[in-house]
Amino acid sequence: MSDPLSKPVLLSQSLSTKGYLLPEDLAQASGVPSAQRRQQGPVAVFECVQEIPCNPCEQACEEGAVRVGERITTCPELVAEACTGCAKCVAACPGQAVFVVDESRGELAHVTMPYEFLPLPKKGQRVTALDRSGMVLGPAEIVRVRCSKTMDATATVTMAVPRDWAMLARFFRMDRDQESPPLPSTRESEQ
Ligand code: SF4
Ligand code: SF4
Repeated sequence: MSDPLSKPVLLSQSLSTKGYLLPEDLAQASGVPSAQRRQQGPVAVFECVQEIPCNPCEQACEEGAVRVGERITTCPELVAEACTGCAKCVAACPGQAVFVVDESRGELAHVTMPYEFLPLPKKGQRVTALDRSGMVLGPAEIVRVRCSKTMDATATVTMAVPRDWAMLARFFRMDRDQESPPLPSTRESEQ
């Protein structure tokens, strides 16, 4: 059995050299749901591929949908069928490595992420979606902002993006002029 205090195993070269994950780093990750599951409704995406001693995500999940297990350096495994997309694990993760993705909304997808800056964005605000490296993807819209005691007062923000960006868009920029062109449809924006 390996020593849980041994040197962390880094499973992504890009994370070590550039500071962000590439889509191919997630292809074999145990916490990433299938495209089929993402199209069925909101589900957590664990972009956690470094073996570090950490498990708040497992403790936060009341559905038993996250498994780290006894060896605390094990990367989290998602039990996709048990996940409700509640985002409690998003707020609980100190590494900001968890997102909720919902690809069940037609031409738009919803991406929920942790947000630790002030001011918080507002529902309906136009923003510019960014990928994991900070590169601009294009216009997006904030559709939900949550900051509750049940999430330890950590805010989560949900943005609507074109569905092709569901597994690319991971942050956003608040533009001063907010004159980005509208998305194809925002009728499904929610509270
Ligand atoms: S989104 Fe909710 S149900 Fe799904 S893994 Fe996270 S805490 Fe569990
Ligand atoms: S809380 Fe975040 S960093 Fe820690 S194991 Fe879970 S996903 Fe990884």
